[in-house]
Amino acid sequence: MKKIFLKRGKERSCERRHPWIFSGAIASCPEDLQSGEIVEIYSYDRKFLARGAFSFSPSIPVKIWSFDENEAIEEDFFRKRLADAYLLRQKIYGGNLPDSYRLVNAESDALPGLVADIYGKYAVIQITSAGMDRYRELIGKLLLEYAGSVYERSDVESREKDGLEQRKGHLCGPPLPQEIFFTENGVKFSMDPVNGHKTGFYLDQRNNRKTVMETLKECKNVLNTFAYTGGFALAALKGGAEKVLNVDSSLPALMQAEKNAALNGFSPERFVTECADVFTFLRKCRDSRRSFDAIILDPPKFAESVKQKEKAARAYKDINLLAMKLLEKGGFLFTFSCSGAMDDELFRKVVDSAANDAKRDFRIVGHLSQAWDHPVSAAFPEGRYLKGLYGIVM
Ligand code: SAH
Repeated sequence: MKKIFLKRGKERSCERRHPWIFSGAIASCPEDLQSGEIVEIYSYDRKFLARGAFSFSPSIPVKIWSFDENEAIEEDFFRKRLADAYLLRQKIYGGNLPDSYRLVNAESDALPGLVADIYGKYAVIQITSAGMDRYRELIGKLLLEYAGSVYERSDVESREKDGLEQRKGHLCGPPLPQEIFFTENGVKFSMDPVNGHKTGFYLDQRNNRKTVMETLKECKNVLNTFAYTGGFALAALKGGAEKVLNVDSSLPALMQAEKNAALNGFSPERFVTECADVFTFLRKCRDSRRSFDAIILDPPKFAESVKQKEKAARAYKDINLLAMKLLEKGGFLFTFSCSGAMDDELFRKVVDSAANDAKRDFRIVGHLSQAWDHPVSAAFPEGRYLKGLYGIVM
């Protein structure tokens, strides 16, 4: 197996089990490496550190798969990793696994470049690294232990960093139906595995939707922005809220949201949708003095990298400031950021300054994060990307 040697001192991150090797850490590397090839990492003094997959990514050319010299990258390796991931989910859900959950969360389950989500009887996976891509058929086959069929949604731009083309299609087992049904916190959902966002649904918000369900019980007039297929709105209605207005710029997402509302027996009077740009919509509400007794802000990732942090902070500030202005006294704000580049401290500052500029007395009552089935390895703090705050305008 080909060997990569690190510069002196650069072994430390490996010794702390961080799964990335940055290009600046590499002292020497064989010339004929192929994209996706498994390589061994050695310290400057020729000590074995790890085994991982090489790619031509300019910033992170190696992602580590194992720190154990005796662990070969073969079928058993993947079987064991999947079993470990499954065991973790069983443990956290007390043996009572929901029928939709994230089975594999990439680096945090020691499988960089692989995400596997389970929806009822089906698995939808996403492969984003050249190394993992070489094993896609094997992974598909092994996932049949956990699901009846496997569909691949590797149609993401980030694959290009690893020199991979986007791919989407059936991988293993019988073909998937066009619509998959599952539940979350007792709410029924259906999703379209082929055209939905990511793997079809945002499973990372499960715990936060539960909090919404429990908190917005008495709300009469909730605004759910960046609604997608209505996850937060249905949670609020199930909890007892009277009416939710869902705003999203994607018409297909809102059509799916309406289907989901009907699945749960919520009438169109209680579950309203509006296809609009949220930034424009919030401004219009402000100008027409429209108000709500709860607002949920769950925007897409505004910062793709640390470089975009400032610009993203301005966008978060903008929607949070507008939302603060639209809330009635005693109203609830649930606000999220799924940009890994925005750390907790910066996000809290943005929300603080939005409240301040809006001249609202906002009291934070809870800090939120990603669902339990999206664990964060202690060695890989980058795995924590979703953060949220909720509170009341007094
Ligand atoms: N809250 C959702 C997930 C949100 S994902 C849930 O619980 O499932 C982000 C959503 O924002 C996507 O549905 C996308 O279509 C929408 N979106 C992105 N930019 C937008 C904009 N400027 N205005 C309105 N919707 C937008």
